[in-house]
Amino acid sequence: MKREDDAPMQTLIIVGTGLAGYNLAREWRKRAPQDRLIMISRDAGHSYSKPLLSTAFAKGKGAEDLVMARREAMAGQLAAEILTAELRHIDTAARQIELADGQRLAYDHLVLALGADPFRPPLAGNGAASVLSVNDLEDYARLRAALQGRRKVLILGGGLIGCEFANDLLQGGFSVDLVEPAGRLLPALLPAAAASALAQALTDAGVRLHLHAEGWAVAVHHLDQGLRVEFRDGSHLDTEVVVSAIGLRPRIALAQAAGLSCARGIRVDRYLRTSAAHVYALGDCAEVEGLLLPYVLPLMAQARALAQTLSAMSTPVHYPAMPVQVKTSVCPVVVAPVAADSVGEWSVAGQGQDLRLLFHDSSGQLRGFVLLGQAAGQAADKAALQKQLPNLLPVESEHE
Ligand SMILES: Cc1cc2nc3c(=O)[nH]c(=O)nc-3n(C[C@H](O)[C@H](O)[C@H](O)COP(=O)(O)OP(=O)(O)OC[C@H]3O[C@@H](n4cnc5c(N)ncnc54)[C@H](O)[C@@H]3O)c2cc1C
Repeated sequence: MKREDDAPMQTLIIVGTGLAGYNLAREWRKRAPQDRLIMISRDAGHSYSKPLLSTAFAKGKGAEDLVMARREAMAGQLAAEILTAELRHIDTAARQIELADGQRLAYDHLVLALGADPFRPPLAGNGAASVLSVNDLEDYARLRAALQGRRKVLILGGGLIGCEFANDLLQGGFSVDLVEPAGRLLPALLPAAAASALAQALTDAGVRLHLHAEGWAVAVHHLDQGLRVEFRDGSHLDTEVVVSAIGLRPRIALAQAAGLSCARGIRVDRYLRTSAAHVYALGDCAEVEGLLLPYVLPLMAQARALAQTLSAMSTPVHYPAMPVQVKTSVCPVVVAPVAADSVGEWSVAGQGQDLRLLFHDSSGQLRGFVLLGQAAGQAADKAALQKQLPNLLPVESEHE
């Protein structure tokens, strides 16, 4: 088949219609108005903003209210065929993919935007299957159904998602317990002083925090009324609904089976190229030069760069510093995380839950910061600090 400008018609297949897949499709379509676009999703394929899942309950929003554009509307906007089907196999030699119904589709370029799976703790007990996790619209609909007529919720995990759900469900009128075995909240993102301030704010608001090393849930049992969660030290908590938020694992199994190089995520270079020719990856499933950043700003930078690369303008992704917002309304947090191997010191200014914490290395370079409470609302301060931080993935000339 030929395009009007006589260049051969290309087929791009994007698997995944989350923020990564749809952002890429939008960016790419601007540059390739005539090429064929096929998108595949094993969910309903509606466009929505995943970060809103953890602030929607208190606002009284159901899953349907979060749909920004239905699949059919997205297909029209993007001039795409959007199939609701499961990818089963990638044949890189034949440049084809196979769907669960056996259908094979040929591609010129294939992009994997498969996202990540919630990590499920290995739990014993007849209530283990009732433990929920929330990573897409359908999960959120299940959570809302499970909360009908209930008052008590227990959240496993005090990372970003666990803290946000604790905050949201508390605001939504629930009695909330949160258990975190690392002994403090947001252990991967916050230094101890910031974690304690956030813990105090959530406690003051009414969340019951259980921050201790024995907080590993080992079993969940059905009671006559509700559920009993049993912990490693033999203690237990009774509740009505259990939400697990103990981390995400990039979806790499299909890429691995196709022989693509994977580490924690599907390994890609700065051009988002996997180890197989004509196959790319972005979003939560992709590890870009060793960096796994499961947030919105990185995937938007990836989508912009990859759209250009796929339109014959090879463009490496570049990451500036990208602070993350923790949407705990009782104590908002903005954090530019410090790399695990950084050597330096934190300085803390402010009082109570209104804190400004800066991390400088031995040469005086700012390497990370945390703004809590009122300090998180100071947009000019956040922007000024962000400017001082080194790029996470420098532009190529800085890199060389
Ligand atoms: C509750 C919550 C709150 C968050 N809040 C924030 C925030 O405030 N700020 C921020 O920056 N980030 C936040 N994040 C993270 C952010 O939302 C994610 O990084 C981002 O949405 C990931 O998008 P994605 O497209 O890579 O993956 P996903 O949205 O998971 O999309 C994956 C797609 O792949 C499809 N798929 C998977 N496997 C197959 C298969 N075999 N066959 C066919 N289709 C398949 C799925 O159907 C889906 O369409 C939050 C995440 C959660 C869960």
